[in-house]
Amino acid sequence: MREILISGASIAGQTLAYWLARHGMRPTLVERAPGPRMGGNGVDLRDQAIEVAERMGIMPRVRAAAADVQGIKFVNASDRAVARMDMRSAGGEVEIMRGDLVALLSEAESGVEYVFGDSVRALAEDGDGVTVSFEQGATRRFDLVVGADGLHSTVRRLAFGPEQRFLRHKGHYFAFANADSALGEDRWVSMFNLPGKMAGVYRSGNHAQAKAYFIFRSGLLAYDHRDVGEHKRLLKEVFAHETSWRVRELLDGALDDPDLYFDALSQVRMPSWSSGRVALVGDAAYCASPASGAGAELAIVGAYRLAGELAGAADHRVAFRRYEEGLRELVRRKQRIGPNVRMMVPKNRLGMWTRNAVVSVLPRS
Ligand SMILES: Cc1cc2nc3c(=O)[nH]c(=O)nc-3n(C[C@H](O)[C@H](O)[C@H](O)COP(=O)(O)OP(=O)(O)OC[C@H]3O[C@@H](n4cnc5c(N)ncnc54)[C@H](O)[C@@H]3O)c2cc1C
Repeated sequence: MREILISGASIAGQTLAYWLARHGMRPTLVERAPGPRMGGNGVDLRDQAIEVAERMGIMPRVRAAAADVQGIKFVNASDRAVARMDMRSAGGEVEIMRGDLVALLSEAESGVEYVFGDSVRALAEDGDGVTVSFEQGATRRFDLVVGADGLHSTVRRLAFGPEQRFLRHKGHYFAFANADSALGEDRWVSMFNLPGKMAGVYRSGNHAQAKAYFIFRSGLLAYDHRDVGEHKRLLKEVFAHETSWRVRELLDGALDDPDLYFDALSQVRMPSWSSGRVALVGDAAYCASPASGAGAELAIVGAYRLAGELAGAADHRVAFRRYEEGLRELVRRKQRIGPNVRMMVPKNRLGMWTRNAVVSVLPRS
């Protein structure tokens, strides 16, 4: 029976573990955090990702937990909506809080070994397997290793090289954190702009907790991307002197949130998603960025396909090649993010005015 190590127990890693176990393989999930990370705002499932979730039997619970946000309203400093965008889908799409999705995936697992609070330290591949040493646990042997460890993947660094080769910075940083639900209008995402910055609050009607959004324009910043204290320092530097609208309250909530998520708006572009006995899945291989609205979709579909190809081919090289050939086109389409971020975070006041004028004349769906 194939023994497969997966680094990262988020959406890609858990989906992959589920399907590998279901195909009769033995997956081990190693996650650096002490438990599954439940933070984040809403993520979208659509098309093939919904089909995969149906096959996993979780889709009824995904629909039951779905966020019921109607749209985005752009507000001025007095909290008056200056433009509204209806986001209700025609039915082909389900938005769910990221933490709810992670919890549903965890509940679906069986036959999966979990190791929390550890990380791969080194990989040594030979003819018939990979010897993996960990930061905490004892060295072990696996047939294959899969990196599902996100934008700053450790497995990618060890098997493919430094991340600077593969990350394309898209000129912005963003953060998601918990927010006081009194700060947002029920069932709307409220966004307040300053030139090159946005603070917002996401308020699903069926969740007690609201979520804060922050985005700001910036070239690449040098900081330790694993240090939450650094994330908070940077966020504070950019927003602390903003006193209009609800920026101060949202910032205070974010600075108090131990699960604040902060990162560069970057994409991952790689010429190949496998090297020998090591492959990558989800953001580690082809992050499209939160601006794409497709991160969860690509993670689920990619993990499902990778597991299916491994089940269908005795030779992992054949499986890895087919996985990549089957998914490249979808990734290419989803990585085209167009003007999404520029629309949410105009550079200057003229851009804000133009955006509001355009949004105001868009037809409501
Ligand atoms: C806390 C959090 C909140 C997020 N919020 C949003 C959001 O609101 N909107 C949005 O669009 N996207 C969000 N994302 C990103 C989104 O989850 C991904 O874009 C997408 O779902 C693809 O998932 P993934 O499993 O490939 O990667 P990720 O969800 O990024 O998961 C990677 C996992 O690997 C773990 N990990 C990292 N390094 C190591 C290591 N060395 N060893 C072991 N484990 C490691 C991480 O702790 C994490 O659990 C968030 C991600 C996280 C981790």
